[in-house]
Parts: sequence; C-alpha cells; structure tokens
Amino acid sequence: MSKYIFVTGGVVSSLGKGVSAASLGALLQSRGYTVHVRKFDPYLNVDPGTMSPLQHGEVYVTHDGFETDLDLGYYERFLGIKLSRTDSVSGGRIYWDVLNAERHGDYLGATVQLIPHVSNKIKEYIARPTDTDFVICEIGGTVGDIEGKIFLESIRQFANDVGRRNVMFAHLTLAPYLEQSGELKTKPTQMSVRRLLENGIQADVLFVRSPRMLTPDEQAKIGMFCNIPAKNVITSMNVDNIYKIPLVYEEQHVFDIMAEHFGLPMAAGDMSKFHKIADYLTADLPTCTIGMVGKYFDVPDAYKSLNEALFHAGVQNNVHVKIKKIDAERFTPNDCKDVDGILIPGGFGARGVDGKIAAAGYARENNIPFMGICLGMQVSVIDFMRNVVGDKDANSTEFAKNCTPVICIMNDCDKDNMGGTLRLGAYPCNIKPNTLAHQIYGADQIFERHRHRYEMNIECQAVLEKNGMIISGLSPDGRLPEIVEIPSHKFFIAGQFHPEFQSNPFTGHPLFNAFIAAAMKK
Ligand code: GLN
Repeated sequence: MSKYIFVTGGVVSSLGKGVSAASLGALLQSRGYTVHVRKFDPYLNVDPGTMSPLQHGEVYVTHDGFETDLDLGYYERFLGIKLSRTDSVSGGRIYWDVLNAERHGDYLGATVQLIPHVSNKIKEYIARPTDTDFVICEIGGTVGDIEGKIFLESIRQFANDVGRRNVMFAHLTLAPYLEQSGELKTKPTQMSVRRLLENGIQADVLFVRSPRMLTPDEQAKIGMFCNIPAKNVITSMNVDNIYKIPLVYEEQHVFDIMAEHFGLPMAAGDMSKFHKIADYLTADLPTCTIGMVGKYFDVPDAYKSLNEALFHAGVQNNVHVKIKKIDAERFTPNDCKDVDGILIPGGFGARGVDGKIAAAGYARENNIPFMGICLGMQVSVIDFMRNVVGDKDANSTEFAKNCTPVICIMNDCDKDNMGGTLRLGAYPCNIKPNTLAHQIYGADQIFERHRHRYEMNIECQAVLEKNGMIISGLSPDGRLPEIVEIPSHKFFIAGQFHPEFQSNPFTGHPLFNAFIAAAMKK
C-alpha cells in the first residue's frame, strides 16, 4: 500500500504549496522511493480548462490531454513523472460525479449528503491505485475556506481509514516579518494550525514561509503552541529559484522527519542534480538573449512552462538565458536588434498576430535562430507563403474567412462547429530522416503535447517545399504537419505542439537545448 502525504496551506494563498509538495517528492525520490502527486482544488469549476489564464496563469496540458492547473507542471518537471486527468481533481468534478450518480439512481433512494457521499467520492480519488511508494496530495486553497472544508474532512477520514502512520499532514504557513519591531511573528502560524485542528487534523510537520531562517527559539515556540516537535518546524525560506527548495528542506533534515513518521530506514539522499542547478545559478556564465514575441505578458505565469523550458536549456548549455519580452501588438524590427534568437509562443485570437508574422519574417530574412510553438509555427508558415511563395492572401481561417487557408480546421467532424474542438494531449509525430528535427530528436517518432484547434493545411506542402520550407514532422496518417523547418537557414524550426510541457531542469528538452545552442553560436 502507498503512503500518503497531504499538503495544506494556511494564513495566505500563494505560499508555494506546489513547489513544497514537489520538493517532498524529490527528497523521497533521492532515497529511491517512487512518488505520485495529485492536486485537489476545492473550487467548483469542473475542470481548469475553462478558467481564464488571466486569473490562473498558464493552462498546463497532461499527456492524456487534460487541461490542468499549472501546479501539475511543477510536479512533472521536478519529479520526472507523468500525471493524468485523474490527478487534477476539483470540487466541481467531485460534485458533478456525485450528482450524476444521484440522477442515475446509484444511491438507491438514500439521502445524498456531503458526508458520506461527497467525502467518499473525494476519498475515492485520493485512493485511486498507483504503483508508487508515496502519493502526495496537495489540497488547494487555504485552511478556513468554506469550500475546502469537505476536503479537509475527507483527508481526516482517510487518515483514520488507512491508519495514522500511513498518512502525514504537512502544513504551510507564513511568518510575517515586522520591520519596526524587527520580529518574525508566529501567531498567524499558531492560528492556522489551530484552524486545521478544528477540522480534526493535527499537522505533523510545518513549513513556515519566511524571509530568514527561524531561530531555535522561534521553532520551539511554534512547536510548543502547535503540538509539534521543534525539529519538525521547518523554515521555507524565500529563495530566488524554486529548484533550491529541495536543498533548503534537505538541509533541515526533512527526509528524516518523514522517515521517522512512516517508519522508514534513515538514508542519505543523492541531491546532486539540485546542487548542479544551484551551482549553475551562481556561476559566471555568458548571457544569451531570446526575444519572445507574445501577448500575455501582464499575466504572471502565463508562459510558465515556456520560461521554465528556456531556463532548463540554459542549464544544459551553461549559459544564462535572458528573455526579452516583445509585445506582438507593437512589434517593430528594432525590437530584435539585440536578441540572439527569436521565439514565438502559442496564442489564441487575432490580437497581435500581425506582429508575430512580421517577427517570423524578420528571423527568416536575417538568419536569426528561430523557434515557433503552435501559433508560432502557424505564423511562420503564413509569413513564408505570403513573402516567399508570394501568396498575399495566405492566412489562418482563425483570423480571416476569405483567404488562402494555409492554416485551417482539419478535424472534419467539427467543420461546422465554431472553430472545432481543441486537439489536446500527446500525439505521435513521424520525423523525416536527414532533417534538423531528426538531428535534434535523434528519433524517427516522437510524442509531443498539443493544445490547438487549427492545423497547417497539408495541401500547401508541395509549394512550400519547392520554395524552401519543408515539413520534417508529420502525423503518422500523413494528414497533419507537425514540424516545419527551413534547411537553408541557420536554425529555423517550428512545431504545432508545445514541447515546453515535457522539458525538465535536469535534461532540458531537445528542441529548446538545440535552440539555445544555436542562439549562443550567434
Ligand atoms: N490559435 C491557434 C489554434 O488554435 C494556436 C493555438 C496555440 O498556439 N496553442 O490552432
């Protein structure tokens, strides 16, 4: 049977529960244990796919095509695991299941109630079998939220069901620093732990977010008020890079706390891959500037996975990658004068698309290393058709009704639907031999994740290839172009998928690694 760690948060939101949960997983993995992670979000949206990125940042896409909260991206990157649609569970999904079951008559006329019907449904998702030693479950929101109460009740019951020694409760809080008195205040933490206790949950370990390390006195004081041994009161220091958090926890012997709780043998862990990143961060390395021509820059985290993938590629190439945010709506060639590479990310809607087409053209004409992602690939094809092939009417049917449809909807069943359905999740792509894509991936077939409605029109292949843009990646049925490149260019490659979802800090991603390597050469 797996052992469970529940991560809750209190005092304020945005304390970094996702990174903390992932870091606990990293400590366990470093001792050879296998780990799975799940996120429970009490809100009532049935899935996060319909939530505005303006509120929630990037929509992360799993291998099996589920649009999830970006925390799942942290888990996958930190831990090298693949999560799926049942690992991101919202309150809406739980109630939806329960109400459907009720309509279906599954409860045989019983009165349907929060306890046991909703709580049992939550426990069912928690307990879905994995073949891992540990399952870490992050509970979204903050202790005290009304909609989160039933989740706390469910994890309380769950601990009672499977035995207290098989479940660990980790709680994140904040210790604000008051400058006037020069004090770190512990009261909010005490209140938060008490709040948790009102729900029948005694925290086993605390992660106290703070600008500096807690002193032994502060640890002892918090421990005394919160019923926790002082050594289990951990400082979750503010750090400049999230990959330092596992090291911060390691230094405070967090694995030992877990080992003691679960009755595991004490063991030293191999944290070298995190040390390598920490060393990279302080190393004196050259800088490479990537111009990112996008439009969601006011939203923190809208390009989360992309920023990560560029960072990872910097680690692999021993270079600090600086991202220059270029607003597509105001794009002028001048914006690219000082960049070593141009990247056009994904996007939806016509706003800013002209600037993106112009940026792709600028990279093409000036032999600047170029990488296009999803919409970034689509605009590079539109530019090529318009300005190399000479068809000024070339466009995507997303932006113009009457045009030469070089980008259009290909899923036949949805032709009459407004824009069709999104192609979501991982799809195979066959790679043509003797191409840049083949050299980069070193494979004949790859799987990358998608999130888009429109496709490049395969009917354009002949004219594009005659003029110097080739399709180097194609769906196995030969209908959907997946990768284009310009062989005469120094480095010009674009994909219909989102490679950033599969990058990780320890190996990077082949496409991003190659892109940064090319940019460095420039
Ligand atoms: N808007 C484009 C489409 O739906 C591109 C989407 C994207 O870049 N993720 O096909």
